[in-house]
Amino acid sequence: SELPETLRETIRRRDEVLGPGYTLIYREPVEFVSGHGAHLVDRDGNDYLDAYNNVPCVGHAHPHVAQAVSRQVATVNTNTRYVQEALVAYAERLLATFPEGLSRLSLACSGSEANDLAVRVAKFHTGGTGIIVTRWAYHGITSEVASFSPTLGTGSPLGPNVRVIDPPDPRLAAPGVDLAEHMRGQVRGAIDDLERHGFRLAALVTDGAYSSDGIFTDPVGYLPGVVDEVRAAGGVYIADEVQAGFARLGETMWGFSRHGVLPDIVTMGKPMGNGMPISGVVFRPEVSDEFGRSVRYFNTFGGSSIPVAAGAAVLDVFEEENVRQRVLENGTALRKGLEEITGDSAHVAEVRGSGLYVGVEIVGDRQTSEPDRARAEDVINDLRDRRVLISGTGKAANVLKIRPPLAFTAADVTRFLETFAEVAKVRL
Ligand code: PMP
Repeated sequence: SELPETLRETIRRRDEVLGPGYTLIYREPVEFVSGHGAHLVDRDGNDYLDAYNNVPCVGHAHPHVAQAVSRQVATVNTNTRYVQEALVAYAERLLATFPEGLSRLSLACSGSEANDLAVRVAKFHTGGTGIIVTRWAYHGITSEVASFSPTLGTGSPLGPNVRVIDPPDPRLAAPGVDLAEHMRGQVRGAIDDLERHGFRLAALVTDGAYSSDGIFTDPVGYLPGVVDEVRAAGGVYIADEVQAGFARLGETMWGFSRHGVLPDIVTMGKPMGNGMPISGVVFRPEVSDEFGRSVRYFNTFGGSSIPVAAGAAVLDVFEEENVRQRVLENGTALRKGLEEITGDSAHVAEVRGSGLYVGVEIVGDRQTSEPDRARAEDVINDLRDRRVLISGTGKAANVLKIRPPLAFTAADVTRFLETFAEVAKVRL
């Protein structure tokens, strides 16, 4: 290994204190000491292009967010047991980005906590316990949420009340069956099987843009029929916007909006505070108010002043820098460039995505579409060696996951494509 001795020593100490659960990304792991925009800097001052991290959405160490948080840390931090005008104003601002009907907000600290609360409210409201998710979904880490996250490994079994359906990949439908019909049939089958085993449906939980299933943002249009089936069975539809939310897909602030459906519950997290732990659950009041009256839910840090200051500062930047428009333009250029570079490659089955959420599916041979995980790993590590950061996802980890901070500029797109072309020449 070419790793500096000091870094190797830190990794050894790290393994000692954190244990085997904490895996590192890349064959040559890397440590960063600062960041700005979509760039990260290592101990030797080398600049890396971050095309992977969705948390610092308005950019690493954005000065406006940094100032807002510093000011709040140096002033006061109170919680939801006190009146906080800033929290009320933030909730009003955030809810204004949702369609009418989605008008209540609860705050928490992580996407997992948001999904945990969403499902808890769904169970309370419907009286059911059944949950439907996509086959390779990831929704989080609490024991409840882990029980409906199929990708956590053999040590983390699904709950008996959980059923999986295909992600919206048109290639999974039988010949002659369109995607909408296929998805509706999948959900109907899951509901029937739950009922046969004595479980009434509580919720369908799906990503606003399917992430760990392998990056499926499109096509849209199948979801209204799926949600009709869910509601007919007495369940609610929970949109997990932890990945898709906050304009990641460019066209809209929220992924579900592209599908023309109104969820009953929406969860969000990661980019919400640009790195401060803040997550949210948005409800239709008909679904959540009885829970609010009957169950004591107090989240010490959720809705406290410091993360709320970060959340409000992120919304400021969205307005000041017209972030959504930038995502749309740079995302389109990124996908177009990737299509040009890989158009003739026998090893690229598809470039797909929307906005700054792009997947490149790597296969052994385009004719057979057999996943080629090893080749995808080579591409990811070659890019890292050229100081460009991405990762992989999907059921066989063979889909390159390109999901940069939304601060990605036109110059960043150019650097990304130039570097990708060098790697593609060798690997693709
Ligand atoms: N839902 C989705 C779609 C996610 O991608 C994640 C995190 N990767 C979560 C939920 C869980 O969020 P957190 O890690 O903040 O608990």
